[in-house]
Amino acid sequence: MKKYILTVLGMLCLSPVWGQGQVTKPRITIIATGGTIAGIAAPPAENAYTPAQLTVETLIRQVPQINNKASVKGIQLCNIASQYMTPRIWIRLARVVDSLFSGDHCDGIVVTHGTDTMEETAFFLDLVNSHENPVVFTGSMRPSNSPGADGPANLYNAVCLAADRVAVGKGVLVVMNDHIFSASGVTKTHTVNPQAFENPNRGPMGTIRGGIASLYYPLCEKNVVDERFSIRELANTDLPRVDIVLSYAGATSLLFDALVENGADGIVIAGVGHGNYSYQIENSAKKAVQNGVAVVRATRVLQGGVSSDTENPFEGQIVSRSLSPQKARILLMLALTVSHEPDTIQRMFDQYP
Ligand code: GLU
Repeated sequence: MKKYILTVLGMLCLSPVWGQGQVTKPRITIIATGGTIAGIAAPPAENAYTPAQLTVETLIRQVPQINNKASVKGIQLCNIASQYMTPRIWIRLARVVDSLFSGDHCDGIVVTHGTDTMEETAFFLDLVNSHENPVVFTGSMRPSNSPGADGPANLYNAVCLAADRVAVGKGVLVVMNDHIFSASGVTKTHTVNPQAFENPNRGPMGTIRGGIASLYYPLCEKNVVDERFSIRELANTDLPRVDIVLSYAGATSLLFDALVENGADGIVIAGVGHGNYSYQIENSAKKAVQNGVAVVRATRVLQGGVSSDTENPFEGQIVSRSLSPQKARILLMLALTVSHEPDTIQRMFDQYP
């Protein structure tokens, strides 16, 4: 009996304790990168503000309620507006996340980030993160000192979700304005309104209000993507170069050709409709593929994606499936670190139907 009691006590003390009856709070690390959530408006021009001013310590101090939910630590990875985010910083972030989880330094991670490119960093991390622990991105649309600042509520929700068992094994998540999204599906759809994020193809995965999460379809959205890229194997040097070309009525191939001439490893075409583009771009795309450049047919249209039954298909084309051009670019950059074979790369995209 005594042995049994000791064993139960031992389990309670040693296991990362989640949910009801917990003895210790989940350990959450907040990795801050900048953005409007760390921004300050300067009166009298209250709509104008400077992003990336506050440190992670100040962000944590501004939301004391998170300490009731988790034992919180902060890391300042960088402090930038997210239009200045780069693949090199993505790699640094992914290495920090890997070492925090591998060394059992925390149970979950929140990344604060500017909203402009949050979906890109979140998707990159989703593709290279091999850990089941929750990772939740958040930010804000209004600076920290504006009336109705949305940062504190978003940070509170993000910490609560990262501390919640429901987020285990779901891949990288994004929490904004009480909605929970998958990193692969989420995109920014409004330039200034606090309701700025959507998943145009599938809607949000769930809601989180006052720190209480409920997922609409937890099983379907469990992270089922097989393809993972090892952050440990990625070199510290630059990733393959992939750029995006937009198509529109009368688009010439000038930009496409310039990218090929300047050594692009891959090009994503943000096409019109179901991944279509002008004659000029079509001719250049075919030539580029013959010369070993990977070309992905994506679309500038928000819903529906591009499946393999495109108009005028050509040998070696890759289609983006449900990934937006900016997400297709990231998958292609990583894909090209392991293969240049269009069929192999297409199978990676097929995981996002
Ligand atoms: N452009 C800034 C950034 O992405 C501000 C946008 C925001 O964070 O809402 O960091």
